[in-house]
Amino acid sequence: MTRIALIAHDDEKPEMIDFAESYQSYLSTVDIVCTGTTGQRIAEATGLEVERKQSGPLGGDMEIGAEAANDRIDGIVFLRDPLTAQPHEPDISALLRICDVHDTPLATTRTAAEYVLEGLAREDGHELG
Ligand code: PGA
Repeated sequence: MTRIALIAHDDEKPEMIDFAESYQSYLSTVDIVCTGTTGQRIAEATGLEVERKQSGPLGGDMEIGAEAANDRIDGIVFLRDPLTAQPHEPDISALLRICDVHDTPLATTRTAAEYVLEGLAREDGHELG
């Protein structure tokens, strides 16, 4: 089954929830994995079933990176806050790097996220409304 990771920094969580709501019908057909707080917020807002890893600063990005390193992830939406320094910047860089290494589709903005989801949905034969 298609497996998609969703991660959002704090200032980007409202955007992520809006994104998840917009693509809820497709997201309900795939495996979703999230960092801890992002997953909690998405599950509360949409009722989608999500697998939650550790919170990002506590290692969640690395857990998702480990899945990407094993080619278990088909796409990642990672809405980063470009204006705030993050204590776990090394983990974030590692996740981005491993996506480059494994050619894992990675979107870090809303518009790019829409393109990635539309591509994955098309591969899955899912008609987006
Ligand atoms: P969070 O982690 O979903 O637990 O807030 C996101 C991040 O900071 O990478």
